[in-house]
Amino acid sequence: MKTVLVIGGGVTGLSTLYELSKWKKENQSDIRLVLAEASAQLGGKIHTVKNVGFMMEAGADSIVARKANGMNFIQELGLEEEVVYNAAGRSFIYSDGELKLIPADSVFGIPASVESLAKSTLVSAEGKVEALKDFYTKNEDFTKNDSIGVFLEHFFGKELVQKQIGPVLSGVYSGDLEDLTIASTLPQVFDYKEKYGSIIKGFNENRKVWQSGGDRKFLSFKGGLGALIQAYEEDLHGTEIFKNTKAEKIVKAADRYEVVFSNGKSVAADHVVLSIPHNAAEPLFTDRALKTEFTGLKNSSLISVYIGFDIPDSELPADGTGFITANTDELSCNACTWTSRKWKHTSESGNLLVRLFYKSSHPSFSILKEMSKEKLLQTALGDIKKSLGITAEPVVSEVTIWKESMPNYLITHPQTVEILESRLAENYPGVWLAGSSYYGVGIPDCIENGAITAKKITEKL
Ligand code: FAD
Repeated sequence: MKTVLVIGGGVTGLSTLYELSKWKKENQSDIRLVLAEASAQLGGKIHTVKNVGFMMEAGADSIVARKANGMNFIQELGLEEEVVYNAAGRSFIYSDGELKLIPADSVFGIPASVESLAKSTLVSAEGKVEALKDFYTKNEDFTKNDSIGVFLEHFFGKELVQKQIGPVLSGVYSGDLEDLTIASTLPQVFDYKEKYGSIIKGFNENRKVWQSGGDRKFLSFKGGLGALIQAYEEDLHGTEIFKNTKAEKIVKAADRYEVVFSNGKSVAADHVVLSIPHNAAEPLFTDRALKTEFTGLKNSSLISVYIGFDIPDSELPADGTGFITANTDELSCNACTWTSRKWKHTSESGNLLVRLFYKSSHPSFSILKEMSKEKLLQTALGDIKKSLGITAEPVVSEVTIWKESMPNYLITHPQTVEILESRLAENYPGVWLAGSSYYGVGIPDCIENGAITAKKITEKL
Protein backbone atom coordinates (compact mmCIF):
# COMPACT_ATOMS: atom_id res chain seq x y z
CA MET A 1 0.00 0.00 0.00
CA LYS A 2 1.35 3.43 -1.00
CA THR A 3 1.40 6.33 1.47
CA VAL A 4 1.28 10.07 0.79
CA LEU A 5 2.25 12.30 3.69
CA VAL A 6 1.30 15.98 3.53
CA ILE A 7 3.33 18.09 5.95
CA GLY A 8 1.58 21.34 6.89
CA GLY A 9 -2.17 21.86 7.29
CA GLY A 10 -2.48 25.38 5.85
CA VAL A 11 -4.79 25.95 2.90
CA THR A 12 -2.23 24.47 0.44
CA GLY A 13 -1.83 21.24 2.39
CA LEU A 14 -5.59 20.97 2.85
CA SER A 15 -6.25 21.52 -0.85
CA THR A 16 -3.63 18.90 -1.74
CA LEU A 17 -5.13 16.38 0.66
CA TYR A 18 -8.67 17.17 -0.47
CA GLU A 19 -7.79 16.48 -4.12
CA LEU A 20 -5.94 13.28 -3.15
CA SER A 21 -8.91 12.07 -1.13
CA LYS A 22 -11.23 12.73 -4.09
CA TRP A 23 -8.89 10.74 -6.32
CA LYS A 24 -8.76 7.93 -3.75
CA LYS A 25 -12.56 7.67 -3.73
CA GLU A 26 -12.95 7.91 -7.51
CA ASN A 27 -10.31 5.24 -8.08
CA GLN A 28 -11.33 3.07 -5.13
CA SER A 29 -7.70 3.14 -4.11
CA ASP A 30 -6.33 1.79 -0.84
CA ILE A 31 -3.71 4.56 -0.70
CA ARG A 32 -2.94 5.87 2.81
CA LEU A 33 -3.30 9.66 3.08
CA VAL A 34 -1.79 11.38 6.13
CA LEU A 35 -1.59 15.04 7.12
CA ALA A 36 0.81 16.20 9.84
CA GLU A 37 0.26 19.68 11.28
CA ALA A 38 2.59 21.20 13.87
CA SER A 39 0.01 23.28 15.70
CA ALA A 40 -3.20 22.39 17.50
CA GLN A 41 -5.39 23.66 14.66
CA LEU A 42 -5.46 23.54 10.88
CA GLY A 43 -5.43 26.65 8.68
CA GLY A 44 -1.93 28.11 9.13
CA LYS A 45 -2.17 31.75 8.04
CA ILE A 46 -5.95 31.51 7.97
CA HIS A 47 -7.34 31.79 11.49
CA THR A 48 -10.59 33.52 12.51
CA VAL A 49 -10.95 34.86 16.07
CA LYS A 50 -14.37 35.85 17.48
CA ASN A 51 -14.65 38.06 20.57
CA VAL A 52 -17.46 40.20 22.10
CA GLY A 53 -19.39 40.52 18.83
CA PHE A 54 -16.35 41.25 16.65
CA MET A 55 -14.82 38.90 14.09
CA MET A 56 -11.08 39.25 13.45
CA GLU A 57 -8.73 37.42 11.08
CA ALA A 58 -5.29 36.83 12.58
CA GLY A 59 -3.87 36.31 9.08
CA ALA A 60 -5.58 36.51 5.67
CA ASP A 61 -8.91 38.33 5.67
CA SER A 62 -10.30 37.82 2.17
CA ILE A 63 -10.00 36.17 -1.22
CA VAL A 64 -9.69 38.03 -4.53
CA ALA A 65 -13.16 37.46 -6.04
CA ARG A 66 -11.98 37.58 -9.66
CA LYS A 67 -9.71 34.60 -9.04
CA ALA A 68 -12.00 32.65 -6.72
CA ASN A 69 -15.06 32.95 -8.96
CA GLY A 70 -13.15 31.32 -11.80
CA MET A 71 -12.50 28.26 -9.62
CA ASN A 72 -14.90 25.73 -8.14
CA PHE A 73 -13.76 25.22 -4.54
CA ILE A 74 -16.57 27.37 -3.09
CA GLN A 75 -19.27 25.24 -4.75
CA GLU A 76 -17.48 21.95 -4.08
CA LEU A 77 -17.12 22.73 -0.40
CA GLY A 78 -20.78 23.83 -0.16
CA LEU A 79 -19.90 27.40 0.82
CA GLU A 80 -22.00 29.34 -1.77
CA GLU A 81 -24.58 30.44 0.80
CA GLU A 82 -21.84 31.58 3.16
CA VAL A 83 -20.09 33.99 0.78
CA VAL A 84 -19.98 37.68 1.71
CA TYR A 85 -18.41 40.48 -0.35
CA ASN A 86 -16.60 43.61 0.70
CA ALA A 87 -18.66 46.77 0.91
CA ALA A 88 -17.89 49.36 -1.74
CA GLY A 89 -15.86 52.29 -0.54
CA ARG A 90 -12.95 54.55 -1.26
CA SER A 91 -9.45 54.26 0.12
CA PHE A 92 -7.26 57.07 1.35
CA ILE A 93 -3.56 57.70 1.58
CA TYR A 94 -2.42 59.40 4.81
CA SER A 95 0.02 62.04 3.66
CA ASP A 96 1.20 65.37 5.12
CA GLY A 97 -0.99 64.95 8.20
CA GLU A 98 -4.27 64.28 6.40
CA LEU A 99 -6.30 61.62 4.65
CA LYS A 100 -6.31 62.13 0.87
CA LEU A 101 -8.48 60.06 -1.45
CA ILE A 102 -6.76 57.71 -3.88
CA PRO A 103 -7.97 59.19 -7.18
CA ALA A 104 -10.97 57.59 -8.81
CA ASP A 105 -10.27 55.78 -12.07
CA SER A 106 -6.94 54.38 -10.95
CA VAL A 107 -5.77 50.78 -10.61
CA PHE A 108 -3.36 50.13 -7.70
CA GLY A 109 -2.81 53.91 -7.71
CA ILE A 110 -1.87 53.88 -11.42
CA PRO A 111 -3.99 56.47 -13.26
CA ALA A 112 -6.25 54.97 -15.94
CA SER A 113 -6.77 58.36 -17.59
CA VAL A 114 -5.15 61.78 -17.82
CA GLU A 115 -8.16 63.18 -15.87
CA SER A 116 -7.44 60.81 -12.99
CA LEU A 117 -3.82 62.00 -12.92
CA ALA A 118 -4.88 65.64 -13.15
CA LYS A 119 -7.30 65.33 -10.22
CA SER A 120 -4.84 63.65 -7.84
CA THR A 121 -4.30 65.57 -4.60
CA LEU A 122 -1.31 63.37 -3.79
CA VAL A 123 1.07 64.58 -6.48
CA SER A 124 2.36 68.10 -7.28
CA ALA A 125 1.80 69.81 -10.66
CA GLU A 126 5.46 69.08 -11.58
CA GLY A 127 4.97 65.40 -10.65
CA LYS A 128 1.92 65.20 -12.90
CA VAL A 129 3.71 66.76 -15.86
CA GLU A 130 6.61 64.35 -15.39
CA ALA A 131 4.22 61.38 -15.34
CA LEU A 132 2.97 62.34 -18.80
CA LYS A 133 6.27 61.10 -20.22
CA ASP A 134 4.60 57.69 -20.11
CA PHE A 135 2.90 58.71 -23.37
CA TYR A 136 6.10 59.38 -25.30
CA THR A 137 8.78 57.19 -23.67
CA LYS A 138 9.36 53.84 -25.36
CA ASN A 139 10.40 50.63 -23.62
CA GLU A 140 13.81 49.77 -25.00
CA ASP A 141 15.57 47.62 -22.40
CA PHE A 142 13.14 46.32 -19.78
CA THR A 143 12.00 42.71 -19.57
CA LYS A 144 9.41 41.22 -17.20
CA ASN A 145 12.21 40.05 -14.93
CA ASP A 146 13.21 43.63 -14.12
CA SER A 147 12.17 45.53 -11.01
CA ILE A 148 8.64 46.91 -11.17
CA GLY A 149 9.72 49.94 -9.10
CA VAL A 150 12.49 50.89 -11.53
CA PHE A 151 10.16 50.24 -14.50
CA LEU A 152 7.37 52.47 -13.20
CA GLU A 153 9.75 55.26 -12.18
CA HIS A 154 11.31 55.20 -15.64
CA PHE A 155 7.96 55.94 -17.29
CA PHE A 156 6.13 57.96 -14.60
CA GLY A 157 8.92 59.71 -12.69
CA LYS A 158 9.66 59.45 -8.96
CA GLU A 159 6.86 61.47 -7.42
CA LEU A 160 3.81 59.62 -8.78
CA VAL A 161 5.44 56.30 -7.89
CA GLN A 162 6.54 57.32 -4.40
CA LYS A 163 3.43 59.22 -3.34
CA GLN A 164 0.58 57.39 -5.08
CA ILE A 165 1.45 54.09 -6.75
CA GLY A 166 4.15 52.81 -4.38
CA PRO A 167 2.11 52.89 -1.15
CA VAL A 168 -0.72 50.92 -2.81
CA LEU A 169 1.31 48.43 -4.83
CA SER A 170 3.92 47.64 -2.17
CA GLY A 171 1.04 47.03 0.26
CA VAL A 172 -0.62 44.57 -2.09
CA TYR A 173 2.59 42.70 -2.94
CA SER A 174 4.24 43.01 0.52
CA GLY A 175 7.61 44.38 -0.38
CA ASP A 176 9.77 47.15 -1.68
CA LEU A 177 8.91 47.76 -5.36
CA GLU A 178 12.62 48.01 -6.17
CA ASP A 179 13.07 44.36 -5.18
CA LEU A 180 9.98 42.90 -6.87
CA THR A 181 9.85 41.82 -10.48
CA ILE A 182 7.26 42.93 -13.01
CA ALA A 183 6.48 39.25 -13.69
CA SER A 184 5.65 38.43 -10.07
CA THR A 185 3.49 41.52 -9.47
CA LEU A 186 1.68 43.29 -12.27
CA PRO A 187 2.91 41.95 -15.65
CA GLN A 188 0.09 43.90 -17.33
CA VAL A 189 2.08 47.15 -17.00
CA PHE A 190 4.72 45.64 -19.27
CA ASP A 191 2.17 44.25 -21.73
CA TYR A 192 0.32 47.59 -21.90
CA LYS A 193 3.57 49.46 -22.58
CA GLU A 194 4.35 47.05 -25.41
CA LYS A 195 0.86 47.05 -26.91
CA TYR A 196 -0.31 50.65 -26.44
CA GLY A 197 2.97 52.51 -25.95
CA SER A 198 1.61 53.87 -22.66
CA ILE A 199 0.72 52.28 -19.33
CA ILE A 200 -2.04 54.84 -18.69
CA LYS A 201 -3.54 54.12 -22.11
CA GLY A 202 -3.33 50.38 -21.42
CA PHE A 203 -5.36 50.68 -18.22
CA ASN A 204 -7.77 53.00 -20.01
CA GLU A 205 -8.34 50.51 -22.86
CA ASN A 206 -8.68 47.58 -20.45
CA ARG A 207 -10.86 49.21 -17.81
CA LYS A 208 -13.53 46.51 -18.26
CA VAL A 209 -11.06 43.83 -17.12
CA TRP A 210 -10.23 45.77 -13.96
CA GLN A 211 -13.79 46.79 -13.23
CA SER A 212 -15.29 43.33 -13.81
CA GLY A 213 -17.28 42.27 -10.77
CA GLY A 214 -17.86 45.93 -9.93
CA ASP A 215 -16.96 46.86 -6.39
CA ARG A 216 -17.20 43.27 -5.14
CA LYS A 217 -13.51 42.68 -5.48
CA PHE A 218 -12.96 40.51 -2.40
CA LEU A 219 -14.93 37.80 -0.71
CA SER A 220 -15.02 36.07 2.64
CA PHE A 221 -17.58 33.92 4.47
CA LYS A 222 -20.22 34.73 7.10
CA GLY A 223 -18.19 32.79 9.64
CA GLY A 224 -14.91 34.34 8.46
CA LEU A 225 -12.20 32.69 6.37
CA GLY A 226 -11.99 30.00 9.07
CA ALA A 227 -15.17 28.59 7.46
CA LEU A 228 -13.06 27.55 4.47
CA ILE A 229 -10.68 25.61 6.70
CA GLN A 230 -13.57 24.00 8.58
CA ALA A 231 -15.22 22.97 5.30
CA TYR A 232 -12.01 21.31 4.11
CA GLU A 233 -11.56 19.53 7.43
CA GLU A 234 -15.10 18.17 7.33
CA ASP A 235 -14.67 16.94 3.77
CA LEU A 236 -11.41 15.03 4.13
CA HIS A 237 -12.77 11.50 3.95
CA GLY A 238 -10.43 8.53 4.06
CA THR A 239 -7.53 10.52 5.49
CA GLU A 240 -5.65 10.61 8.80
CA ILE A 241 -4.99 14.01 10.34
CA PHE A 242 -2.37 14.38 13.06
CA LYS A 243 -2.36 17.75 14.83
CA ASN A 244 0.36 18.88 17.28
CA THR A 245 2.69 16.84 15.07
CA LYS A 246 5.72 18.73 13.85
CA ALA A 247 7.92 17.09 11.22
CA GLU A 248 11.58 17.24 12.23
CA LYS A 249 13.48 15.05 9.82
CA ILE A 250 13.14 13.40 6.42
CA VAL A 251 15.26 10.28 6.13
CA LYS A 252 15.66 8.30 2.91
CA ALA A 253 14.82 4.65 3.67
CA ALA A 254 15.27 2.32 0.66
CA ASP A 255 12.74 3.59 -1.92
CA ARG A 256 10.60 5.41 0.65
CA TYR A 257 11.02 8.22 3.16
CA GLU A 258 10.76 8.07 6.89
CA VAL A 259 9.50 11.34 8.34
CA VAL A 260 10.21 11.73 12.04
CA PHE A 261 8.01 13.95 14.22
CA SER A 262 8.71 15.96 17.40
CA ASN A 263 6.51 13.57 19.41
CA GLY A 264 8.89 10.70 18.58
CA LYS A 265 6.48 9.04 16.12
CA SER A 266 7.22 8.60 12.42
CA VAL A 267 5.48 7.82 9.12
CA ALA A 268 6.99 5.93 6.18
CA ALA A 269 5.80 7.50 2.93
CA ASP A 270 6.27 7.11 -0.82
CA HIS A 271 5.39 10.74 -1.46
CA VAL A 272 5.95 13.68 0.89
CA VAL A 273 4.38 17.08 0.27
CA LEU A 274 6.17 20.01 1.91
CA SER A 275 3.27 22.46 2.19
CA ILE A 276 5.15 24.39 4.86
CA PRO A 277 7.06 27.67 4.63
CA HIS A 278 10.54 27.32 3.06
CA ASN A 279 12.23 28.18 6.37
CA ALA A 280 10.34 25.30 8.02
CA ALA A 281 11.28 22.91 5.19
CA GLU A 282 15.02 23.64 5.23
CA PRO A 283 15.75 22.09 8.68
CA LEU A 284 14.15 18.78 7.62
CA PHE A 285 17.09 18.01 5.33
CA THR A 286 20.77 17.32 5.88
CA ASP A 287 21.71 17.80 2.20
CA ARG A 288 23.90 20.94 2.27
CA ALA A 289 23.31 22.07 -1.31
CA LEU A 290 19.57 21.82 -0.82
CA LYS A 291 19.74 23.76 2.45
CA THR A 292 21.67 26.56 0.74
CA GLU A 293 19.02 26.88 -1.98
CA PHE A 294 16.21 27.10 0.60
CA THR A 295 18.01 30.00 2.28
CA GLY A 296 17.98 31.85 -1.07
CA LEU A 297 14.23 32.42 -0.56
CA LYS A 298 13.27 35.36 1.64
CA ASN A 299 10.43 36.19 4.01
CA SER A 300 9.51 39.42 5.71
CA SER A 301 7.60 40.10 8.91
CA LEU A 302 4.27 41.74 9.61
CA ILE A 303 2.31 42.72 12.69
CA SER A 304 -1.49 42.91 12.61
CA VAL A 305 -3.41 44.82 15.30
CA TYR A 306 -7.21 44.77 15.49
CA ILE A 307 -8.98 47.22 17.78
CA GLY A 308 -12.73 47.22 18.45
CA PHE A 309 -14.43 50.28 19.96
CA ASP A 310 -17.74 50.93 21.62
CA ILE A 311 -18.54 53.70 19.12
CA PRO A 312 -20.44 53.51 15.82
CA ASP A 313 -18.26 53.32 12.74
CA SER A 314 -20.24 56.21 11.23
CA GLU A 315 -17.70 58.42 13.03
CA LEU A 316 -15.25 57.70 10.21
CA PRO A 317 -15.08 59.74 6.99
CA ALA A 318 -18.09 58.81 4.83
CA ASP A 319 -17.57 56.32 2.03
CA GLY A 320 -14.12 55.26 3.27
CA THR A 321 -12.79 51.77 3.99
CA GLY A 322 -9.27 52.55 5.12
CA PHE A 323 -5.98 54.23 4.42
CA ILE A 324 -2.39 53.52 3.49
CA THR A 325 0.52 55.57 4.82
CA ALA A 326 2.70 57.35 2.25
CA ASN A 327 5.40 58.93 4.39
CA THR A 328 6.81 56.49 6.87
CA ASP A 329 7.83 59.20 9.36
CA GLU A 330 4.24 60.30 9.99
CA LEU A 331 2.74 57.11 11.47
CA SER A 332 4.21 53.79 12.62
CA CYS A 333 1.64 51.74 10.68
CA ASN A 334 1.77 51.08 6.93
CA ALA A 335 -1.98 50.74 6.54
CA CYS A 336 -5.27 50.74 8.41
CA THR A 337 -8.44 48.96 7.28
CA TRP A 338 -11.79 50.12 8.65
CA THR A 339 -12.88 46.52 8.96
CA SER A 340 -16.43 47.07 10.23
CA ARG A 341 -17.04 49.33 7.20
CA LYS A 342 -15.48 47.04 4.66
CA TRP A 343 -16.88 43.80 6.10
CA LYS A 344 -20.30 44.21 7.73
CA HIS A 345 -20.23 40.66 9.12
CA THR A 346 -17.25 41.47 11.35
CA SER A 347 -19.15 43.69 13.77
CA GLU A 348 -22.50 42.48 15.14
CA SER A 349 -23.46 45.87 16.55
CA GLY A 350 -22.02 47.98 13.72
CA ASN A 351 -19.47 49.37 16.14
CA LEU A 352 -16.08 50.37 14.87
CA LEU A 353 -13.46 47.67 14.24
CA VAL A 354 -10.14 48.70 12.68
CA ARG A 355 -7.09 46.70 11.66
CA LEU A 356 -3.61 48.21 11.50
CA PHE A 357 -0.71 46.66 9.61
CA TYR A 358 2.95 47.12 10.60
CA LYS A 359 5.43 45.89 7.99
CA SER A 360 9.14 45.26 8.06
CA SER A 361 9.61 47.82 5.27
CA HIS A 362 8.79 50.58 7.83
CA PRO A 363 11.81 52.29 9.46
CA SER A 364 10.20 51.88 12.94
CA PHE A 365 9.80 48.12 12.51
CA SER A 366 13.13 47.21 14.12
CA ILE A 367 11.81 48.82 17.34
CA LEU A 368 8.25 47.52 16.96
CA LYS A 369 9.30 43.90 16.51
CA GLU A 370 10.89 43.93 19.97
CA MET A 371 7.76 45.31 21.66
CA SER A 372 5.31 43.36 23.82
CA LYS A 373 1.75 42.94 22.48
CA GLU A 374 0.56 45.51 25.05
CA LYS A 375 3.09 48.09 23.81
CA LEU A 376 2.11 47.35 20.20
CA LEU A 377 -1.52 48.01 21.11
CA GLN A 378 -0.55 51.37 22.63
CA THR A 379 1.39 52.25 19.44
CA ALA A 380 -1.67 51.34 17.36
CA LEU A 381 -3.91 53.50 19.56
CA GLY A 382 -1.46 56.37 19.03
CA ASP A 383 -1.70 55.93 15.24
CA ILE A 384 -5.52 55.86 15.43
CA LYS A 385 -5.58 59.05 17.50
CA LYS A 386 -3.25 60.85 15.09
CA SER A 387 -4.88 59.71 11.84
CA LEU A 388 -8.57 59.45 12.80
CA GLY A 389 -8.78 61.59 15.95
CA ILE A 390 -10.29 58.69 17.95
CA THR A 391 -9.34 58.65 21.64
CA ALA A 392 -11.90 56.10 22.95
CA GLU A 393 -10.78 53.11 25.04
CA PRO A 394 -10.81 49.81 23.08
CA VAL A 395 -13.25 47.06 24.07
CA VAL A 396 -11.35 44.34 22.22
CA SER A 397 -7.96 43.88 20.59
CA GLU A 398 -6.06 41.13 18.79
CA VAL A 399 -2.35 41.50 18.12
CA THR A 400 -0.65 38.93 15.85
CA ILE A 401 3.07 38.93 15.08
CA TRP A 402 3.91 37.16 11.81
CA LYS A 403 7.67 36.82 12.23
CA GLU A 404 9.54 36.04 8.99
CA SER A 405 6.30 34.64 7.60
CA MET A 406 5.47 36.68 4.50
CA PRO A 407 7.15 35.37 1.32
CA ASN A 408 8.92 38.01 -0.77
CA TYR A 409 9.32 36.98 -4.38
CA LEU A 410 12.68 38.51 -5.13
CA ILE A 411 14.04 38.84 -8.64
CA THR A 412 15.94 35.56 -8.09
CA HIS A 413 12.81 33.70 -6.89
CA PRO A 414 11.91 31.79 -10.09
CA GLN A 415 15.46 30.47 -10.55
CA THR A 416 15.75 29.42 -6.90
CA VAL A 417 12.46 27.50 -7.07
CA GLU A 418 13.57 25.83 -10.29
CA ILE A 419 16.88 24.72 -8.75
CA LEU A 420 15.11 23.41 -5.63
CA GLU A 421 12.65 21.43 -7.78
CA SER A 422 15.39 19.85 -9.84
CA ARG A 423 17.56 19.00 -6.80
CA LEU A 424 14.59 17.34 -5.13
CA ALA A 425 13.67 15.44 -8.31
CA GLU A 426 17.25 14.17 -8.53
CA ASN A 427 18.04 13.38 -4.89
CA TYR A 428 14.62 13.13 -3.25
CA PRO A 429 12.17 11.88 -5.91
CA GLY A 430 8.68 11.85 -4.46
CA VAL A 431 9.28 14.88 -2.20
CA TRP A 432 7.27 17.83 -3.48
CA LEU A 433 7.35 21.54 -2.72
CA ALA A 434 3.98 23.24 -2.36
CA GLY A 435 2.44 26.47 -1.18
CA SER A 436 2.98 30.14 -0.75
CA SER A 437 6.75 30.08 -0.28
CA TYR A 438 7.11 29.00 -3.91
CA TYR A 439 4.03 29.26 -6.13
CA GLY A 440 2.00 32.37 -5.26
CA VAL A 441 0.81 33.82 -1.96
CA GLY A 442 -2.88 34.42 -2.63
CA ILE A 443 -5.34 31.85 -1.28
CA PRO A 444 -6.63 30.94 -4.79
CA ASP A 445 -2.98 30.37 -5.87
CA CYS A 446 -2.47 28.08 -2.87
CA ILE A 447 -5.66 26.12 -3.59
CA GLU A 448 -4.73 25.74 -7.24
CA ASN A 449 -1.20 24.71 -6.30
CA GLY A 450 -2.63 22.05 -3.97
CA ALA A 451 -4.60 20.60 -6.90
CA ILE A 452 -1.52 20.69 -9.18
CA THR A 453 0.58 18.97 -6.50
CA ALA A 454 -2.03 16.24 -5.99
CA LYS A 455 -2.11 15.65 -9.78
CA LYS A 456 1.69 15.34 -9.96
CA ILE A 457 1.48 12.62 -7.30
CA THR A 458 -1.50 10.69 -8.68
CA GLU A 459 0.20 10.57 -12.08
CA LYS A 460 3.02 8.64 -10.41
CA LEU A 461 0.83 6.25 -8.43
P1 FAD B 1 0.65 28.28 5.76
O1 FAD B 1 -0.67 28.90 5.96
O2 FAD B 1 1.86 28.96 6.31
O3 FAD B 1 0.55 26.80 6.35
C1 FAD B 1 1.67 26.05 6.69
C2 FAD B 1 1.30 25.13 7.83
O4 FAD B 1 2.40 24.29 8.09
C3 FAD B 1 0.99 25.85 9.13
O5 FAD B 1 -0.25 25.41 9.63
C4 FAD B 1 2.14 25.47 10.05
O6 FAD B 1 1.76 25.36 11.41
C5 FAD B 1 2.53 24.12 9.48
N1 FAD B 1 3.92 23.73 9.72
C6 FAD B 1 5.04 24.49 9.67
N2 FAD B 1 6.14 23.74 9.92
C7 FAD B 1 5.70 22.47 10.11
C8 FAD B 1 6.35 21.25 10.39
N3 FAD B 1 7.68 21.15 10.50
N4 FAD B 1 5.59 20.13 10.55
C9 FAD B 1 4.24 20.18 10.43
N5 FAD B 1 3.57 21.32 10.17
C10 FAD B 1 4.29 22.46 9.99
N6 FAD B 1 -3.84 35.85 1.12
C11 FAD B 1 -4.99 36.20 0.49
O7 FAD B 1 -5.35 35.58 -0.53
N7 FAD B 1 -5.78 37.22 0.97
C12 FAD B 1 -5.44 37.93 2.08
O8 FAD B 1 -6.20 38.80 2.52
C13 FAD B 1 -4.21 37.63 2.72
N8 FAD B 1 -3.82 38.33 3.80
C14 FAD B 1 -2.78 37.88 4.55
C15 FAD B 1 -2.50 38.52 5.76
C16 FAD B 1 -1.50 38.03 6.59
C17 FAD B 1 -1.22 38.71 7.89
C18 FAD B 1 -0.76 36.88 6.20
C19 FAD B 1 0.28 36.30 7.12
C20 FAD B 1 -1.01 36.27 4.98
C21 FAD B 1 -2.02 36.76 4.14
N9 FAD B 1 -2.33 36.16 2.91
C22 FAD B 1 -3.45 36.54 2.22
C23 FAD B 1 -1.53 35.06 2.37
C24 FAD B 1 -2.17 33.71 2.62
O9 FAD B 1 -2.82 33.71 3.86
C25 FAD B 1 -1.09 32.65 2.64
O10 FAD B 1 -0.26 32.76 1.49
C26 FAD B 1 -1.68 31.23 2.67
O11 FAD B 1 -2.66 31.11 3.66
C27 FAD B 1 -0.53 30.28 2.88
O12 FAD B 1 -1.00 28.97 2.94
P2 FAD B 1 0.02 27.76 2.98
O13 FAD B 1 -0.80 26.55 3.20
O14 FAD B 1 0.89 27.77 1.78
O15 FAD B 1 0.97 28.05 4.22
